[in-house]
Amino acid sequence: MNNIQISKNFQLIEFEDNRTGEVRLDKRLLKVMQTIRTSINKPIRITSGYRTKNTHMQIYKEKYGNAWKDKIAWGSKHLSGQAVDFYIVNGTSDDYEKAIKIAIDSNIIKGIGNGLSNGGFLHMDCRNSDKIIRWSY
Ligand SMILES: [Zn+2]
Repeated sequence: MNNIQISKNFQLIEFEDNRTGEVRLDKRLLKVMQTIRTSINKPIRITSGYRTKNTHMQIYKEKYGNAWKDKIAWGSKHLSGQAVDFYIVNGTSDDYEKAIKIAIDSNIIKGIGNGLSNGGFLHMDCRNSDKIIRWSY
């Protein structure tokens, strides 16, 4: 249903909730992802885009067991289609540095989570913020 081409290299299905197939996507996020994709010229795999509340809870339950309620981030931009977790297929550290630079320069991406040493992914989101917030997983 969501296998609709929405930019040169992305289909809507790539951003949908992995469990339910529902999808919301902020167009600004797509724009930055396509800019990164074009610049790096390697496939990008989105491991988590939009999440329903239930899927979000499920992820935290699987990760933290009974402690999920203390850990869960209800402010997550995945819940509004404004966040993606992704990796670059055969991505080098130069590729990831380039991706982060594009995100910083975009003036759209305001949250960057670096999970490259923990599962090998980047989180990017377009939260409302004056400055860019960065963290590591
Ligand atoms: Zn994320």
